[in-house]
Formats: sequence, structure tokens, C-alpha cells
Amino acid sequence: MQNLSDINVIKSVMSRHGVTFNKGLGQNFLVDPEVCPAMAEAADLNKNTCAVGIGPGVGVLTAELAKRAGKVLSFEVDNRLLPVLNETLKEFDNVEIINQDVMKADLKGILQEKCKGMDIVVCANLPYYITSPIIMLLLESRLPLKSITVMVQKEAADRLCAEVGSRDGGAVTVAVNYYAESEKLFYVPKESFLPPPKVNSEVIKLTVRKEPPVKTDDEDFFFKVVKAAFSQRRKTAENSLSAGLGMPKSEIAEVLQKADLEKTVRAEKLTMEDFANLTEILKK
Ligand code: SAM
Repeated sequence: MQNLSDINVIKSVMSRHGVTFNKGLGQNFLVDPEVCPAMAEAADLNKNTCAVGIGPGVGVLTAELAKRAGKVLSFEVDNRLLPVLNETLKEFDNVEIINQDVMKADLKGILQEKCKGMDIVVCANLPYYITSPIIMLLLESRLPLKSITVMVQKEAADRLCAEVGSRDGGAVTVAVNYYAESEKLFYVPKESFLPPPKVNSEVIKLTVRKEPPVKTDDEDFFFKVVKAAFSQRRKTAENSLSAGLGMPKSEIAEVLQKADLEKTVRAEKLTMEDFANLTEILKK
């Protein structure tokens, strides 16, 4: 098997197939030999696991997943990489590359058909231009996933794994926390990629919850409240909820009072319970 984290191997397989790096698709390939085995180990795979990859590149992480999982499905939008992957992954009979944009694919249908009866996990080095949309799509689609182990930009990791109610928190922090428990696993500097991107990275793991940590009768409205609260970060929750929900400030002030919150509170100080409370009071 070729060493797919060797710069010369990557360059030569790409040039043999006439493929050049496409910056717009976030094509920065890993060249640190220790990162992919560590990611695959963290994803906790066995022969009953269906590992879902996103953006296999030249297949360096895919190969590590294939060694450990029963099956690997990997979504790659760039069809120029298909002949490359055919060559680099030829020794594995448990890998299927799906030539589709992960954001447009029928993920539920594909996983139902191809991972029947298996535990399903996502393990990927994500294209950074759509990190949060991919993570939110995976979580909001309620796919039957056990966990999501992904490499993301360091700043995205800080936000995705922040504690709700802390300075680093944002609407995406609340959303991730609603669906999953998050943890940072390890840091990966930009020099670990070819070509090196402008930013550093971090591998994070989201373990999907069986039940959300707070109860709400109307999830859509809960997330509308969360988005509205964070819509104007520098302003008080009173101002941003009023603007985001199109309600007079006086009414929002009453709602905050009923929820036992100060008028001057900012969204980043609110807990999951505060958001659930606000949702219920606002609905009434
Ligand atoms: N996993 C490889 C590695 O670790 O070396 C490459 C990861 S690279 C950061 C991102 C990959 O995602 C590229 O292969 C790119 O073509 C692919 N990609 C970009 N946008 C995509 C999309 N919407 N759907 C599926 N794959 C996508």
C-alpha cells in the first residue's frame, strides 16, 4: 500500500491522473502520518461499524477507516479524484466512494440502504468552507449516527465545543449542544497539510445524544429564539430578541422578567435551560 501521507506519493498520484489542487473545494491534504490513524482510532470503529467519510481527497483517512470498519462510504464532490481513489484504495473491498455533494445528497436514504443493521459514525477531515453547515446538516437531519469525529478549523472547534453560557458560545454552540456532547481531541498545525492552509486545525468529537438536554415542544421555535438572541452579539438579549423576533422591546422585557433574567443579559450568558424557558414563555 502506498504511503498516502507522503508528499511525493500525493504529488505523483495526482499528476499521473492530471489532478491539481482545487482551493475552492478546500483541498488541503494531510501529510502528517500520525493524524489519520489517531482520528480513526478516536472514531471507535469495529467490523459492525459503517464509517462515513466526507471529502476523501486522495484517500489517506479513508484507508485508515477501511482497515478498522466493516464498511466505509465516502462522499467526494470532485469527480477528478475518482480515478485517484480507485488506484489508492484498490486493496480495500469495503470502501464505496459516492460522487455527490454531501450537502445535496439524500443522506438518510443512502445510509438506510447501505449501512443497514450497522452502527454509523462520521469521520472526516472537513472542507472548511462548509464546516458548520455540514455539521448542522448531519445533526439536524436526525441521521442514526453514534458520533461525528472531524477535523475543523481551530476557531470553529473553539465555537463548536464551547460551553453554552460562556464567552466563546454562539448559536451554533447551542445547536450542537442540543444534539450532541462535544469534546476537543487534538490540535493539528497548518504545516500538517499540503498545501498548508492559512489556519490551524483541531480534531473534535461529537457524541450524538439519545435525548436533548432540555425539553421543548417546538424545536423550530427554540432554534429561532436562539438565532434571534445571537443575531446582534454586542447587544443585550432584549435588543437582539426584539429585532430578531420582530417583537416590541417592552414585551421582550416582560418575557425576560418572567424567565428570571436581567434585562441587560447577553445571549452568551444564557444556558440551555434559559433558552428552553424563553421559548416556552414566548410561545404563550
Ligand atoms: N480527507 C482528505 C485528507 O485528509 O487528506 C482531504 C480533505 S480536504 C480538507 C476536503 C475534501 O472535501 C476534498 O477532497 C474536497 O474535494 C472535498 N469536498 C469539498 N466540498 C465537498 C462537498 N460539498 N461534498 C463532498 N466533498 C467535498
